[in-house]
Amino acid sequence: MAFLESSIGVEDLVLLEPLEEESLLKNLQLRYENKEIYTYIGNVLVSVNPYQELSIYGPEFIAKYQDYTFYELKPHIYALANVAYQSLRDQDRDQCILITGESGAGKTEASKLVMSYVAAVCGKGEQVNSVKEQLLQSNPVLEAFGNAKTIRNNNSSRFGKYMDIEFDFKGSPLGGDITNYLLEKSRVVKQLEGERNFHIFYQLLAGADAQLLKALKLERDSSGYTYLNREAPRVDGMDDASNFKALQSAMIVIGFSEEEFRQVLEVTAMVLKLGNVELADEFQANGVPASGIRDGRGVQEIGELVGLNSVELERALCSRTMETAKEKVVTALSVIQAQYARDALAKNIYSRLFNWIVTRINESIKVDTGEKKKVMGVLDIYGFEILEDNSFEQFVINYCNEKLQQVFIELTLKEEQEEYKREGIPWTKVDYFDNGIICDLIEHNQRGILAMLDEECLRPGVVSDSTFLAKLNQLFSKHEHYESKVTQNAQRQYDHSMGLRCFRICHYAGKVTYNVNSFIDKNNDLLFRDLSQAMWKARHPLLRSLFPEGDPKQASLKRPPTAGAQFKSSVAILMKNLYSKNPNYIRCIKPNEHQRRAQFSSELVAVQARYLGLLENVRVRRAGYAYRQAYGAFLEREGVEKVLGDLSMSSEERAFGKTKIFIRSPKALFYLEEQRRLR
Ligand code: ATP
Ligand code: MG
Repeated sequence: MAFLESSIGVEDLVLLEPLEEESLLKNLQLRYENKEIYTYIGNVLVSVNPYQELSIYGPEFIAKYQDYTFYELKPHIYALANVAYQSLRDQDRDQCILITGESGAGKTEASKLVMSYVAAVCGKGEQVNSVKEQLLQSNPVLEAFGNAKTIRNNNSSRFGKYMDIEFDFKGSPLGGDITNYLLEKSRVVKQLEGERNFHIFYQLLAGADAQLLKALKLERDSSGYTYLNREAPRVDGMDDASNFKALQSAMIVIGFSEEEFRQVLEVTAMVLKLGNVELADEFQANGVPASGIRDGRGVQEIGELVGLNSVELERALCSRTMETAKEKVVTALSVIQAQYARDALAKNIYSRLFNWIVTRINESIKVDTGEKKKVMGVLDIYGFEILEDNSFEQFVINYCNEKLQQVFIELTLKEEQEEYKREGIPWTKVDYFDNGIICDLIEHNQRGILAMLDEECLRPGVVSDSTFLAKLNQLFSKHEHYESKVTQNAQRQYDHSMGLRCFRICHYAGKVTYNVNSFIDKNNDLLFRDLSQAMWKARHPLLRSLFPEGDPKQASLKRPPTAGAQFKSSVAILMKNLYSKNPNYIRCIKPNEHQRRAQFSSELVAVQARYLGLLENVRVRRAGYAYRQAYGAFLEREGVEKVLGDLSMSSEERAFGKTKIFIRSPKALFYLEEQRRLR
């Protein structure tokens, strides 16, 4: 335990002795209390959110890490970024940086630190600088539209993001390409207590000048908007008005025209105003209940804002047209149904606007030079989630994490294997939990849970969340990673905590109980055709372009893929992308629930360490040789004679590779360190 006691814990957890959860947590805590937020597991970086500005970033530190190899300086995110960039530039290996961790753990900040490091060290010149500027400025734009204050994080990303940064053969940046995953669009119409809607709404109201607000038909006071939670308009330390100015200049830098900026704001304003459209009971001539709009002014204003006939908009919100082969039947919607339609419209407009913004940024930053590009991918995506009530969203998020775990294990082992081969050292097989069976349970093309869900969504007849669950129960009653109240049998413990409408998956990181309510609806993700057709009729070019299926000529088009199917295929693309690159991992940890500095809750960190599989990671890493270092650096440290003369270290304990020495257990290394100190 020499390292642990004498200083501020080990810098690399593979040196941890004994290796168990308790010592791992203690080590992280000790370091955290000394403001050492970074620790390695081999080449994996563990980062604990400091919740305070540390003076370890900026040009001076960038310069320092640029000149040293990985283990020569303290663990740092710059060291990881540097290794990745140098390997890309000098060895022509495409890289990806995978950043995971739960909400508030520091993923987005980490991704920005990586980007700013790479931007600082790669290439020079006017042209190059303008590319860098564009890439960096994509962050404030995506954050304005995709981030929000939640209970866990004042600046929480409500979407997943993967960004490829592309370089030429010299390592100068050419451009990039962003993929976004699953925006939490339910937030547009409803937020939990103490949370906010997406930042943009508040930025717009606080930052737009009076003239702009008037043109958008908005009031400055956010309390007048139903879609904006009344009790939480401000976030400590966040200046919405100045962020609005920053957003505007970022969009201009990226290449949005004034006109596009304006149109984006108009669509944003429309969403806000839709929330204030009040629907009231009305009755049809035959006395059947229906809905109507209580105060026509809001609808009128929306119509003027985006060039829509307000009568048509009202009709689309309050009635539904059913088309059969022969006839069209128009039915009136009840108030509840009309409210549902209005909210569905608002969510759809907003999420399509978000997608459009990403596509538009890509148009600006994408390069098509034809020459071969080197690529560095940065993935900032939601970590494993277990909430009190887990729904479709958690299901797909956890599925994605299950896939990422699979990539991690496979690539880590492969990398180990390849290094041993390169160094000419015999390889011993490592046992590990293969989560392929869980991935299969979810994603199998014919028999996976997602396939079952799709089948239920597309099946004619009466389908419901219950018929979906019944199907799962029937199919997976014997599956060792599936449980539900119905399938629990003699071998399994009967669990009263699980509701009848739930199923449970035993994920690699733990068991999660999902409630099936709304699975069908969320997967279907359908917008009534009346609404998309109404939107397509708007004169507003941007709004109209967001609803291509509203074009009556397209009416016969196939049904769009379900939300689950879309997510699955984007995950598949992501996996393919990651497998083709050399991975670099950043595991982010949130030290406490209060977004407070200098507070370390062991219980909270323990859970995250489990989800991130840190112990397993150390174990895999140590299964072969725990420690390796190039001969030069190693000999400098330990002394040539000492090492060569040391006969008490058995040949089992070490191996001489072509360029590096490998040491099996940390104990042997401690022994060497000890010898060095005594010398
Ligand atoms: P989410 O999943 O909700 O998007 P996240 O993992 O992306 O969460 P961040 O937004 O990156 O979390 O971090 C949350 C907050 O923690 C930041 O707004 C910042 O205040 C603080 N923080 C994170 N990393 C650092 C750091 N390296 N230095 C200082 N503060 C940090
Ligand atoms: Mg984030």
